[in-house]
Amino acid sequence: MSNMVKRFADTLNQVQHTGAYYASGDIEMHAIRLDVTGVGTIALPLLDVLEAMNPSSLEFNEATGNAGASFDRLYALAALVVWPRKRYMNVIAQSGIVASIGFLGEMCKEWQNSGREVDSPIRIEAQQLSKHIIEQWPTDKSSYTAKFSIESNDFMAHLISFEDLKQLDKFLSKCITEVSYTSANTPVLLQCLTKFSQAYAKEIVTAILVAHSEKQLAACANLLYRVVKLFDRNDLQPAADHLINTIASPTAQESRYHQRINADASLESVLEVLPALEVMDSALAKQAATLFLEQSKKYPMDDILLPAMLRLYQGDASRNLPSVCQLREQVLIHLKQRIAKPLASPENWTRENKMTCRCDNCQSVAAFLIDPKLSTYHYKAAEAKRSHLQTSSHKCDLDFSTEKKSRPYVLICRKNKASYQKLYQQRSLDLKDLASLEDQ
Ligand SMILES: [Zn+2]
Repeated sequence: MSNMVKRFADTLNQVQHTGAYYASGDIEMHAIRLDVTGVGTIALPLLDVLEAMNPSSLEFNEATGNAGASFDRLYALAALVVWPRKRYMNVIAQSGIVASIGFLGEMCKEWQNSGREVDSPIRIEAQQLSKHIIEQWPTDKSSYTAKFSIESNDFMAHLISFEDLKQLDKFLSKCITEVSYTSANTPVLLQCLTKFSQAYAKEIVTAILVAHSEKQLAACANLLYRVVKLFDRNDLQPAADHLINTIASPTAQESRYHQRINADASLESVLEVLPALEVMDSALAKQAATLFLEQSKKYPMDDILLPAMLRLYQGDASRNLPSVCQLREQVLIHLKQRIAKPLASPENWTRENKMTCRCDNCQSVAAFLIDPKLSTYHYKAAEAKRSHLQTSSHKCDLDFSTEKKSRPYVLICRKNKASYQKLYQQRSLDLKDLASLEDQ
C-alpha cells in the first residue's frame, strides 16, 4: 500500500493545472464518465461535491457589444479511482475491441517471456479478456466491414499462442462463422483449424461457406481448396454443394455501378471455384463451368471467362483440369468465330448508318453516311440543333469541328475509320489471345 501512496503522491506532484491527467505505474486514467461492469457508473466531476466546494478562481467579464457577460468558475479536482484487481479485465475490455486485442497481445508477450505456465495469473486474466472481446464482437453481418480483418487475425493468433482452445472455439463458431470471415483471415484460420479435430474443422468450414459464399464466392472456394489439401475431402460434400448452389442462384438485378464493382469478384470466382471443385469432384467442377457459361450477364465471355481462361491455362496445375479444358474450348470457339469475320479497310466513303434519330436533319446525315462519294457534311444551324445532330450521330464514324466564320456556326462532320480501327485492334488482340490459349 505504501508503494501505491507514493505513486499517487508522485502523480499529484506533476499536476500543474486543472484538467491535466497524469498517470504512473499501473494507474489508468479514464474519461470523465466511466462505466465499469459490476461496479457501476462513475461520473466525474462529482457535481454534488462541486456544490459544496469553493472555486479555485473566478473570472468575470462585462457584456461588450453583442457578447453577453461571462462568469466562469474554475475548480481544481483530483480523483483517485480504485477498482478490484479481479475486475481489471472488465475495465480494459471497455476500451473497445481494437485496444483490447492490442492489450491481449502485450499480455501474450509477457506470458511467453515469463515461462508460459498454464496456471499463471496472466493467462487466466487473458482468458477473461478474450471472453469479453468475444461478447463485444459485432453480431450484424450486413453492417460488418473488413475493418476488423486484421484484428480478427491478431486475436486468433493470440488465442493460439495462449492455447486457449475454449475461447478459440467460441470465436470461430460464433464470430468468424456467422459474421466476420474475409479472404484475409484464411491463413490464420487454417492454423486455428489444425488445433481441433478434422471433423470439427470441416464443420466450421462448411458453416463459413454457407454463411459467406454469396458475397465472397472466391474466398470461400479458396478456403475449401486449401482445407481439402490440408485434410481430405471427406465430409466436405455439403460445402461443395453449397458453392454450386450459390453459382446457380439467380443473379440479382444489379446496377451498372455494382456490375463494375463485381466484375473483379466474378473473375476471381472463376479462378478459385474450378480448382476447388476439381479437388472435390470433377463432375461438380464441370457443372460450375457450365453454369458460368450460362450466366453470360454475370460472367461475360470477353470480360470474365476469356481473362480467366488465359490465367488458368498459364498455370501448370490448372491448365489440364477437365473443367478448364471445357471452358477453354468454348472460349476458343468464341474467338475463332470473331476472327473468321471479314475485316477490311473501307474501300470508299460509305459508312454504316447508326443515327439514333429519324428527324429530317438527322436523316440528311444518314443519307450522307451511306453515300460512297461524300466525305464531309456541313450543317449550318443554331447551337441547339448542332448539338442534337452531334448527339444523335455519336455512334457513327464521324469527327466533328465547328466553323465560326459567320453566324449561325457551321458543324463540319468528317467521316473516319473508327469502326474499322476498333475491329482491327480487336482482331490483333483476338489473335494474340488465341495463340496464348493454343500454346502447348
Ligand atoms: Zn434528329
